[in-house]
Order: sequence, then C-alpha cells, then structure tokens
Amino acid sequence: MAVTRTFSIIKPDATRRNLTGAITKMLEDAGLRVVASRRIHMSRDQAEGFYAVHKERPFFNDLCTFMTSGPVVVQVLEGEDAVKRNREVMGATNPADAAEGTIRKSYAESIEANSVHGSDSDENAKIEIDFFFEPDEIVG
Ligand code: ADP
Ligand code: MG
Repeated sequence: MAVTRTFSIIKPDATRRNLTGAITKMLEDAGLRVVASRRIHMSRDQAEGFYAVHKERPFFNDLCTFMTSGPVVVQVLEGEDAVKRNREVMGATNPADAAEGTIRKSYAESIEANSVHGSDSDENAKIEIDFFFEPDEIVG
C-alpha cells in the first residue's frame, strides 16, 4: 500500500475542550504523521468554500456557523492509505454510530459538533490540502 496524504480539521468543539493534543495522539497512534499543522479561526467565506459540496444540505448554514465559532486546527496527515486510515480512527459522522476507540466515539458532542473532519477520497484530500496549505508549508 502506498504512503498518501489526507486533510484533517480538529473542530471548534474539540479546541474549546483543549483536546488538540489528545486527538493528535490518537491520529499518531493510528499510524498517521502530522506533516503540516496550523491553528486558525476560519472565516465565513472559508467555511462556505470548504463545505461548498454540502451547500444544498439542510445543515449547511449551521455547519458554517459552528465551524467559525472558535479556533480550529487544520492538518495534513501522511501514512499508509492515509484517507482510509484517518476515516477509520475518526469513526462514523454521528457519534451515536461510532465504534469504540474512535475519536468521535471518545470525544464528539453531537452529529454536528463531531470533533474532527477528514477527507473522504484521495481526490478530495488534494483539493482540501490545497485549500489551506502552500506546498512549502508541508514538510514530510
Ligand atoms: P463526515 O464529516 O463524516 O465526512 P459529512 O461530509 O456527511 O460527514 O458532513 C460534513 C459535516 O457536516 C459533519 O462532519 C458534521 O459536522 C456535519 N453534519 C453532517 N450531517 C449532519 C446532520 N444530519 N446534522 C447536522 N450536522 C451534520
Ligand atoms: Mg465529509
């Protein structure tokens, strides 16, 4: 299997509870390496652009309000089959459905405030990485 990259966000519900380190440790323990990381307060424009694929969904407005409600940590993760590995350690979108030992089972507050984002395909990982990072900010 190839070493690939994925894009991760530690969401405002998690930064508010000081869980940046705990979540990053779970990512690292899952075999992922943080090769870029920045703490930002997302603008409304950034949130709407990042989640544009969801703009017809009923939760779109609330999601953008949530994602701009506090600091987030945007990260690039590298590892074997990184997109899949990260989705596994994140757990299901709804924490009620998430498996034991996953980040969302451990920490998510709700289906919206679910602590982490992770890309869902290699193609989207590249788009999402490029949305937040310049190539020279990623050090593998
Ligand atoms: P995932 O983050 O697991 O890839 P989606 O891409 O489907 O999930 O949704 C993006 C984000 O939108 C979710 O992580 C969550 O924060 C929010 N969300 C998804 N479904 C709902 C819902 N039914 N109600 C409220 N928020 C939702
Ligand atoms: Mg998604």
